[in-house]
Amino acid sequence: MTNDTLANQTNTTSDNLSKHRLPNFSAGPASIPTEVLAKAQAELLDWQGRGVSVMEMSHRSADYIGVAERAEAKLRQLMAIPDNYKVLFLQGGASLQFSAIPLNLLGGKVADYLTTGAWSGKALKEAKRYEALGLGKVNLVASGKENNFTDVPNKDSWQLSDQAAYFHYCANETIHGLQIFETPKVDAPIIADMSSSILSQPIDVSQFAMIYAGAQKNIGPAGLVIVIIREDLIEEASDWCPLLLNYKHQIEKASMSNTPATYSWYLAGLVFDWLEAQGGVEAIGKINQQKAALLYDAIDSSSFYHNPVAKAHRSIMNVPFTLADSNLDKVFLQQAEQAGLLNLKGHRDVGGMRASIYNAVSLDWVSQLVDFMREFERTQA
Ligand SMILES: *Cc1c(COP(=O)(O)O)cnc(C)c1O
Repeated sequence: MTNDTLANQTNTTSDNLSKHRLPNFSAGPASIPTEVLAKAQAELLDWQGRGVSVMEMSHRSADYIGVAERAEAKLRQLMAIPDNYKVLFLQGGASLQFSAIPLNLLGGKVADYLTTGAWSGKALKEAKRYEALGLGKVNLVASGKENNFTDVPNKDSWQLSDQAAYFHYCANETIHGLQIFETPKVDAPIIADMSSSILSQPIDVSQFAMIYAGAQKNIGPAGLVIVIIREDLIEEASDWCPLLLNYKHQIEKASMSNTPATYSWYLAGLVFDWLEAQGGVEAIGKINQQKAALLYDAIDSSSFYHNPVAKAHRSIMNVPFTLADSNLDKVFLQQAEQAGLLNLKGHRDVGGMRASIYNAVSLDWVSQLVDFMREFERTQA
């Protein structure tokens, strides 16, 4: 077979596969690129002629270690992670990091927490449990609760501690649709929960002491959390810290203290390959801007739809919106689903709708959604 025919065949196959794939606006676990799933399918029974699936490999085997190391190298390249940072592929989701962070890094000092929505609030609450156990102090810098998490509290109101062990915040509040685009200017080492914004646009990793992200939004399947941590931040963890949450230990063991989430790690590597093929983070960032602009413009240009978040902080990944008449919510969701637009129901804390438009959600899918919204307004308003 000539290369041309092979290329044609591959295209046809991926077009055929795409035909069965519907626009999925789920907040997480979220859409995964069709090409990635097709590649995983092609390799499912027999990975690279070895006669076994990646799922069936020992995590100690040379083949699997190759898979794991390649994924890390790709991520380092995509995010331009400096050499003085370690990258861990751990389990327990982003939420278990809410505990791991104070258990490793509080060390009898004070830690600053900014809350701008549900996730940073959960991180604070978990850290407070360790304060109660005497591991250190946990200081609420400021809370966006007064404005229902529709804006970031004014910096003038922030109560920062002297010599804080770290400053924790959430770069993108997945539920409230609020994003902090500029890294906060504080003296303490900055720790950011980037579960729903990692790899969505370029960032300067060197501004952070630690970044962590659950995989199921922009990286791959659930079961995996990625931790990017600057070497000098790592200290002796508290005696209370479970071994599997101990950063120093996991670094020594290359994230394999016990069996890691091997298949999720492999799929993350395929997603990184896909992202590289799209032109990397900068290129996908431009598309993400277009997607978000298209959707927010549709919302703002109508009195039928509404998004409450301050414009400077509107998330480019999660777009919550309400209908002028909430009695129509159910009909909206039913008709959207009939039109093949999936998982638009808003989070119960916020109500209304939410469209999560992560990297794997194409501009075409977003424009299908916008067309649907216009048509719905025309027939229902
Ligand atoms: C989804 C999410 C989490 C929780 O992730 P789990 O993997 O379910 O623990 C934490 N923070 C943010 C910003 C999220 O979007």
